[in-house]
Amino acid sequence: MKCGGGTGMRFGFRQVARDGRARAGVIETARGEVATPAFMPVGTAGTVKGMLPGSVAATGAQIVLGNTYHLMLRPGAERVARLGGLHRFMNWQGPILTDSGGFQVMSLAGLRKLTERGVTFRSHVDGSRHELTPERSMEIQRLLGSDIVMAFDECPALPADRARLAESMQLSMRWAARSRAAFGDRPGHALFGIQQGGLERDLREESAEALRAIGFDGYAIGGLAVGEGQAAMFACLDHAPAMLPEDRPRYLMGVGKPDDIVGAVKRGVDMMDCVLPSRSGRTGQAWTRRGQVNLKNARHADDPRPLDEECTCPACRGYSRAYLHHVYRSGEMIAGMLLTWHNLHYYQELMAGMRAAITGGRFAEWEADFHAVRAEGDIPPV
Ligand SMILES: [Zn+2]
Repeated sequence: MKCGGGTGMRFGFRQVARDGRARAGVIETARGEVATPAFMPVGTAGTVKGMLPGSVAATGAQIVLGNTYHLMLRPGAERVARLGGLHRFMNWQGPILTDSGGFQVMSLAGLRKLTERGVTFRSHVDGSRHELTPERSMEIQRLLGSDIVMAFDECPALPADRARLAESMQLSMRWAARSRAAFGDRPGHALFGIQQGGLERDLREESAEALRAIGFDGYAIGGLAVGEGQAAMFACLDHAPAMLPEDRPRYLMGVGKPDDIVGAVKRGVDMMDCVLPSRSGRTGQAWTRRGQVNLKNARHADDPRPLDEECTCPACRGYSRAYLHHVYRSGEMIAGMLLTWHNLHYYQELMAGMRAAITGGRFAEWEADFHAVRAEGDIPPV
């Protein structure tokens, strides 16, 4: 089966600067380059909800994420491949990273059965039975034409006892080896391994060692942002990234809020993804330099000022807080569209700010300023 991309160019990562543990770099794929640290908007079912692909690119995003679990159930990976692959199907020509489906299948507690071979589960769409194995996950991600493929893993919810974490991590490492074998050699495409081990430092070390022995194009830190809280996550990130190869991109999965992202970059993470900016946008929540703003709140009803007067996104350039409040309260589609755009724009500005600060050797000052402006809180009501 012929898939999208694949010009023969090798996948690569080069670091351009380092400040403390924070790194700035460039990921090279057959579909283009991605400046790191990078935030990847989530396009779960072949769309970043409420955004045209051109709008996603206009926010500064260079790569989006697609979800294997959702796409395999609907419309189906074979169908996407017949229609020319995911890039063509969703009209996004930049790089795409797909998850392995593992995390989402594991979340279907009660509806799934886990064995050494893989996971069988019932579709949340129509109740049909499906199986996901490392081999099938690699096949689906190949059919989609993904540029960055994730190894199939199991991710236990936290808190979990140590025995459960160890058993789960070791299963994920056996699956990582099977994923590597099934992925094969695909120039221009990358396969990332996923470190597990919960908050247990020695399990994280054992996992990293297993992954390094297999050898991947990039390495993800999995099993965080699953309910452990920011302090515990940062404590883990104080040592987890350094266990992974220095010369490969490090991807923290499913993170997060702006201050989570800043703390992760500070600790040596290069890539992140999260549904938060788009999901918040659809529920009337905005993220700005000054923190979170709830547009549902009546205080905005008469406010002629933009959400953030320094922001250059269409929501802030063209509309008042009063308008955003009104369209949200009226259930108008444009409310989610504008707030999603603003939130994605803010996230990309945040990443660009960190890249510039790292390159300029002033990340600590940048971080102090980031926290100081947030501490002021939202502008006072009119
Ligand atoms: Zn804005």
